[in-house]
Amino acid sequence: MSASVREKSFSLSKSRRAIQWMVVIGTLVIGLRHILPGEGSRGGSFDSFCAFGGIETLLPYFFTGHMLKSTNLLNFSVLLATLGVALVAGRAFCGWLCPLGAAQDFVAEWTRKLFGETRHVRGKRSKTILPLRLPDFLDRPLRYAKYPVLAIILLASLFMVFPPLRGFCPVRAVFGLKMTSLLWLTLMVFLAGSVLVERFWCKYFCPLGATLAIFNKISPVRLVADHGHCNDCGRCDIECSMDIADVPHHLDHPECVRCMECLDTCAREGSLVLKVGSTNL
Ligand code: SF4
Ligand code: SF4
Ligand code: SF4
Repeated sequence: MSASVREKSFSLSKSRRAIQWMVVIGTLVIGLRHILPGEGSRGGSFDSFCAFGGIETLLPYFFTGHMLKSTNLLNFSVLLATLGVALVAGRAFCGWLCPLGAAQDFVAEWTRKLFGETRHVRGKRSKTILPLRLPDFLDRPLRYAKYPVLAIILLASLFMVFPPLRGFCPVRAVFGLKMTSLLWLTLMVFLAGSVLVERFWCKYFCPLGATLAIFNKISPVRLVADHGHCNDCGRCDIECSMDIADVPHHLDHPECVRCMECLDTCAREGSLVLKVGSTNL
């Protein structure tokens, strides 16, 4: 059974942006809470609010019964909630709820403004030099880098005391507010990467993104294209922050973060439809 949830929307992008700001502010509050005197010991460490912390501590917990330091059962709860969202709507967590994804979207927007874009016209390619799209010969192999990153972290977790990514985790660098030299370096690389390539961490290195990618193929809430309506104008490709080529033909692509910017941008009514259930219209 399938049901059309929404035929066309003009406010999805704004709603997403509002949710992303809430997530960013909420994460900063969690970070702030853990640097206030006497607060660090209450409600778990900053790390315990991380879904990926649940993945990092999963194998040690399974094989030894002990969780890695700085993680606790809250990580498993956050991980389960994230997987629940993925089961229903694929990588919607990445498009709507991840603070790091939001931070990269904001940096890309500010970069365009910094380089002279006064007003973003939806569906029109920005003329600013940054952020740029890497050439295919670099972009394609790099897209696979996140899978070995995930595999190495899982393997390393069996031999570590703290979660393997913890020392140079971009979430801690951006939101944790408790900095080390390595985290300052991570922050600089993260910012430079995000200025250079839109969502560079998501595209190339994020191990949580690698974990969630598979769910785009199986989640019931999905975008479907009606090729009878679509005229291949390419507006949706231009708005895709993950640079998915030929969006209407690749709506279950593992790189899609379900941000719905393509749906919001499409000017031909009925070309893209958000559906529950089958891939047919
Ligand atoms: S790929 Fe990683 S950093 Fe990017 S939005 Fe998804 S979970 Fe967040
Ligand atoms: S889905 Fe819409 S925006 Fe994308 S190519 Fe088709 S008509 Fe153009
Ligand atoms: S294909 Fe559409 S929903 Fe997926 S990432 Fe690109 S713009 Fe967002």
